[in-house]
Amino acid sequence: MVGLCLAHQLVERGIAGSITVLDKEPELGRHSSGRNSGVLHAGLYYKPGSIKAQVCVGGARRLRAWVEERGLPLNACGKVIVPPRPELDGQLDVLAERGTANGATVEFWDEIHLRELIPEARSASGRALWSPNTAVVKPITVVRRLQQELQERGVSFLTGRSGWTAEPERRQLRLADGGTINYVHLINCAGLQADRVAQPFGVGHEYTLLPFKGLYWQLKASCPIQPRANLYPVPDLNVPFLGVHFTPSADATPLVSIGPTATPAWGRENYHGLQALEPAMAAANLTVLARQYLANRGGFRRYVHEQAFLALPPLLLRAAQQLIPAVRAEHLELSQKVGIRSQLFNRHTQRLEDDFLCLPGPASTHVLNAISPAFTASFALADLILDQAAPPMALA
Ligand SMILES: Cc1cc2nc3c(=O)[nH]c(=O)nc-3n(C[C@H](O)[C@H](O)[C@H](O)COP(=O)(O)OP(=O)(O)OC[C@H]3O[C@@H](n4cnc5c(N)ncnc54)[C@H](O)[C@@H]3O)c2cc1C
Repeated sequence: MVGLCLAHQLVERGIAGSITVLDKEPELGRHSSGRNSGVLHAGLYYKPGSIKAQVCVGGARRLRAWVEERGLPLNACGKVIVPPRPELDGQLDVLAERGTANGATVEFWDEIHLRELIPEARSASGRALWSPNTAVVKPITVVRRLQQELQERGVSFLTGRSGWTAEPERRQLRLADGGTINYVHLINCAGLQADRVAQPFGVGHEYTLLPFKGLYWQLKASCPIQPRANLYPVPDLNVPFLGVHFTPSADATPLVSIGPTATPAWGRENYHGLQALEPAMAAANLTVLARQYLANRGGFRRYVHEQAFLALPPLLLRAAQQLIPAVRAEHLELSQKVGIRSQLFNRHTQRLEDDFLCLPGPASTHVLNAISPAFTASFALADLILDQAAPPMALA
């Protein structure tokens, strides 16, 4: 999505004939952009001044308008955030302050108002925060339509091209079939692999990627509870995961997903079973996580106690029941959808990187840590990247 939006904004700036989108997969959307919750975030979570805060509200508005103009599925259902425990009530004020500073619309509700929208929902403190501008889209539909329109506007797509190598000093990519691509400026937006792509350019050596898997459950069609809006817990703002939430589908299907979890993954693309296992990486990452736990950096213990094991069905059910106590195990089924977050860890600061990172390299720009809400924000993020890119970009 980030790469497509960059191509889109370059076309909008009058640079069309010379853009090539290179992807290792035979079709686009096989990773995060086709596997996320599809929530267009309204901008409540992000520290004012961060890149996320700068691009989320504007990006969401633009993506929503783009989806609506094309008549693609969109559920403008809003979102309500509740504290699952009374002591988390004060976090609602933090979110309201951040949201307002970032240009989002928010409203405090009492429990009566909350139950008018979702009768079975509960707030541990009696207060809830309403975000009317949160919406849900179908991410894969967005990706496919954007690709189709870019092709029609002259952008070239080279898909199924894994195994290429970069020769930055020659501004050249050498493809696995022996072919070459010369470039004026390369923008690396390779998601879960972006740090690996950046390394031959001498960029980002202080980072290591910790992939976190997000599993989803869903409410069975027979379940009598079907929330009409997004229902989220107050998140732990120390870690970049929003907590297990209820998300209605973007289209007319009465499908509500619950998730995603945030469990350390055994490979960057280990979506199912033994697929794409990376044991050495997983072992190294577990060591990093264990050290974070012992040092309790960034409130890491709370993440481990509350989120790391939510892939276990009884714990997932308990998390769901903190929002809707009437949910029972027999109401839930595992969804086929699984995503993996491209979360960076900074070895110097010993912390998870919370914001997007766009680092310059020789004749190149490297988009690292394109975690949530990069999907929501992608049009605005693309403009920010292009405005800040090295001069050759403007001449390309
Ligand atoms: C479980 C989950 C839920 C999320 N929910 C939301 C949400 O509700 N709202 C939201 O805004 N965001 C959400 N996000 C975040 C969002 O999905 C990502 O921020 C966004 O999709 C990142 O887009 P991207 O283009 O950077 O990465 P990707 O979609 O991963 O794209 C990277 C592309 O690079 C390609 N690639 C990788 N390596 C190479 C290589 N060597 N050569 C060529 N091509 C390569 C891949 O094949 C892929 O197509 C969620 C993420 C996850 C995992």
